[in-house]
Amino acid sequence: MKITFFGAAREITGSCYLVEAGRTRLLVDCGMFQGSAFSEARNFNDFGFDPQTIDAVIITHAHIDHVGRLPKLIKEKFAGKIYLTLPTAKITDIVLRDAEHIMEEALKREYRPKLYDLEDVENVIKSFKTLDYNRRVNLDGVSFRLRDAGHIFGSAFVELEEDGGSRAIFSGDVGNINVPILRPTAQMAECDALLIESTYGNRLHEDESTRGTRLKQAIQNTIKQKGVLLIPAFAIERTQQLLYELNHLIENGLIPKVDIYLDSPMAIAVTKVIKAYPKYYDKEAFRLVCKGDDLFDFHGLHQTASRDDSKKINTAPFPKIIIAGAGMMNGGRIQHHLIRYLSSKKTTVLIVGYQAHGTLGRRLYSGDKKVRIFNESIQVKAKVLPIGAYSAHADQQKLLDWIGNARSRTKHVYCVHGEEDSAAALATRIKQEFGIQADVPRYGDTVNI
Ligand SMILES: [Zn+2]
Repeated sequence: MKITFFGAAREITGSCYLVEAGRTRLLVDCGMFQGSAFSEARNFNDFGFDPQTIDAVIITHAHIDHVGRLPKLIKEKFAGKIYLTLPTAKITDIVLRDAEHIMEEALKREYRPKLYDLEDVENVIKSFKTLDYNRRVNLDGVSFRLRDAGHIFGSAFVELEEDGGSRAIFSGDVGNINVPILRPTAQMAECDALLIESTYGNRLHEDESTRGTRLKQAIQNTIKQKGVLLIPAFAIERTQQLLYELNHLIENGLIPKVDIYLDSPMAIAVTKVIKAYPKYYDKEAFRLVCKGDDLFDFHGLHQTASRDDSKKINTAPFPKIIIAGAGMMNGGRIQHHLIRYLSSKKTTVLIVGYQAHGTLGRRLYSGDKKVRIFNESIQVKAKVLPIGAYSAHADQQKLLDWIGNARSRTKHVYCVHGEEDSAAALATRIKQEFGIQADVPRYGDTVNI
């Protein structure tokens, strides 16, 4: 088996690995490069392989950095099937249409070229072949199955085996521990090669049991100050996790009544998908649903899908909580709220997810006191409060524990999907703890397994 790294090598985004096994050429993920303008321009480059020669694509989960170049792949004559779980298919549909819409707006506004059109997105959706977890699929000389990764709704890692040959595991993104709604990450099997994500390869999250308390405190402070709590949220998973916890706090009388605005059409759409498939929930969420609780709806919640409803938030009385995308603040409705409220001391910006280099979120996270949004220079007086325990990703310890359980026959680990220092730190720990060979591949590297 041969694996070539065509993305997420010494960086977070652009996940795309070419696998040549048996008589099959397939891709695991086909994601978009994100972050700086330079990263985004790279999406227009050649893939590094001819899309017509690819037989199939396996998708780990619906995040744009894992699915965002699928329409370009189809546009460039890929004609095979795209394998993914049913929730991933439903959410990818929303994500790709949203991306196309943003591109269309950028074309109209700034004459920026589009990476693909709506027709390409529709062709992607027609190529979907949905799979249950654990069901083995046989292709020519190679087979694979999807296992629950516990990262976002529908997320999977891939176990892939060449007939009579070696086994490789592609972690996709590995979930954090004790995430509401999601089931825990399934145990991985032993393998000849493991490609593991390393987003937090050099960091430990704070204790997740403090997560609810810290959210509660941030809300209570906002209410006391009659301020604004801005939560730039990732539309998939983090938003629903927040809604789930807010639902708990409000329905159990743990916080006073307050207006909460879910100001993201994409998050609203994804919430509908998650509501529709309780069979994928963990035991606790499933139990609540069976009792008749609506996990994502409660008193004081306003879903502002339309632009007009969104604008009304501006004149709504204080205190208020606004959940809006994008999670890294480099686009979306959150920017309008940041312009309005960042220069007030009564504002808190809650950071609940990874902030990539080059994004507005990263600048705020790093403590910048002046930022530019839409060519406007803004003084930052708001409190910026990161809660790491909200991460959708495993931290270093969880990654090590996950590998540790299968260490006896894991021969080689490749640390991917992490910035260089983070991937290197994880590789070092893997070598030290388990004596397993661990490397950090570069874009374009090929390995034989
Ligand atoms: Zn992800």
